[in-house]
Amino acid sequence: MTDSSPNVETADFIREQVASDLRNGTHGGRVQTRFPPEPNGYLHVGHAKSICLNFGIATEFGGSCNLRFDDTNPVTESEDFVDAIVEDLAWLGFDAGTAPRYASDYFEQLYTWAELLTEHELAYVDDQDAERISATRGGFTTPGTDSPYRNRSTAENLDLLRRMRAGEFADGSRVLRARIDMAHQNPQLRDPVLYRIRHAAHHRTGTNWSIYPTYDWAHGQSDVIEGVTHSICTLEFDVHRPLYDWFMERLGELGALASLGYAGERPRQYEFARLNVTHVVLSKRKLAQIVEGGHVEGWDDPRMPTLRGMRRLGYPAAALRAFCAHIGVAKVNGTHEVELLESFVRDELNRTALRRMAVLRPLRMVIENYPEEQVTWLDAVNNPEDPGAGSRTVPFSRVLYIEHDDFMQVPPPKFYRLSPGKEVRLRYGYFLTCTGVETDADGKVIELRATYDPATKGGQAPDGRKVKATIHWVSAAHAVDATVALYGRLFTEPHPDSFEGRDPLEFLNPGARELLHGVKMEPTLAELPDGSHVQFERLGYFSADRRAAGGPLFHRTVGLKDDWAKIRKRQN
Ligand code: ATP
Ligand code: MG
Repeated sequence: MTDSSPNVETADFIREQVASDLRNGTHGGRVQTRFPPEPNGYLHVGHAKSICLNFGIATEFGGSCNLRFDDTNPVTESEDFVDAIVEDLAWLGFDAGTAPRYASDYFEQLYTWAELLTEHELAYVDDQDAERISATRGGFTTPGTDSPYRNRSTAENLDLLRRMRAGEFADGSRVLRARIDMAHQNPQLRDPVLYRIRHAAHHRTGTNWSIYPTYDWAHGQSDVIEGVTHSICTLEFDVHRPLYDWFMERLGELGALASLGYAGERPRQYEFARLNVTHVVLSKRKLAQIVEGGHVEGWDDPRMPTLRGMRRLGYPAAALRAFCAHIGVAKVNGTHEVELLESFVRDELNRTALRRMAVLRPLRMVIENYPEEQVTWLDAVNNPEDPGAGSRTVPFSRVLYIEHDDFMQVPPPKFYRLSPGKEVRLRYGYFLTCTGVETDADGKVIELRATYDPATKGGQAPDGRKVKATIHWVSAAHAVDATVALYGRLFTEPHPDSFEGRDPLEFLNPGARELLHGVKMEPTLAELPDGSHVQFERLGYFSADRRAAGGPLFHRTVGLKDDWAKIRKRQN
């Protein structure tokens, strides 16, 4: 073992690389990463993995991480996405420390370098259209064909490039290409495009530019300009790495990088497996289709795997960070069960969420031996996992609501909750026995009669008799009304994008949300601030949404049962 960092056991191949570079002084002892979203959509849980990795490495190794907007496509990008990304990043718990960077800030420098490459016959203007360029690129086993414009004179290339910039030519009529090798075994190096003509207004540079750089040209050079040491991206970019290196090597040879004050090595690209999660898709394009198709209510709909969707659903940022730390980084693509993610959410909420009582499907129950006007305030702990959370009192009175599911008129064996003649415990309250059932004309149960045992206050009988079930309840006179949203999976299939020739959207779950109106809650819930996490006892964790139209709404974040434990058992 050569690594001296304390957490070497859990270190991944990227952290090992960083540690080794630091030991060897490769980048002059510096560590600098970047998180480079394109502002053309909202961040999703896949981005969280990249954020945790890039910001995590910077923190662990005493370096820094830039938030850089990769804003090279004027048509799809906007300031709204920029603001949302900044906000989501902060919510997730990361701070770039400095103002965000923008690839568009480097347009002038990139262009200067493009002219430099052109002057040295390393780039040329091609008059072929996109279709023709793609058709002559060759295949994996066949070489491409040289463009008839490949051997233009330097003077002509420079002239055309300058006129492209000046806006003289129509969109798509010309491109600037690197002059590498049309027979290169890696198709990425078959004269890749550096600039396209696009007469479009950019969210930051307005109409200053008529040409825009491609990802390949902008990305690596932005890394160089910012002094990035480790440029970490997802696996599909591994075939781009030789091009990433090619540009920098040529610029280095031409003396272009000297002025940037590089200590030691230029930036290096490393690739890791992107995050996939079952029952969702993590492609911005697909997510946009779900929103635009009206299948959800927006990017922040609690069913969406976006950070704002998850936040609204009630996922704590700490749970997402813990999940990302747990799954780690590897070099093989795979898919994680959403139940694993949920288990991190449950663990976090178990520690932090207040316990409250709410009745989702209320059944009225009259306690006949409890006086009409009387109210008893009962002590209830706020969180058994956190003594510091204290306690509250809940009102107990003659008429209660209990959960419809907690009563059965003709109980099957092993149904220990309420049924005629059966005694149960009321949470934080008394023992109580069902003495009567009222049904409507169709035989549906509409009300219960009961008696309680005043000697059992606090949930124990002095005579030592036991009950087999404890149920939750709410005092009818004190209850506040709310709506609850229950969620199923966004997609019915665990791997919706794995079906050859089928659109994943075919597998959207039409029943992914169920709204329950007239939910009865204990009165302390009336004042719960927006975004608060709460456990409704026996029902799950919920998140308060005060922005919803039509009164308080509670999203069910996750149920109480550890589905992940079940899956793990099955897998073993
Ligand atoms: P999409 O393919 O959905 O458009 P993207 O990769 O183009 O996503 P960007 O905004 O370019 O989205 O991503 C910013 C950063 O986040 C990139 O470095 C990218 O590698 C990383 N990233 C995106 N999706 C994932 C994912 N599922 N897992 C890990 N990292 C991701
Ligand atoms: Mg991208």
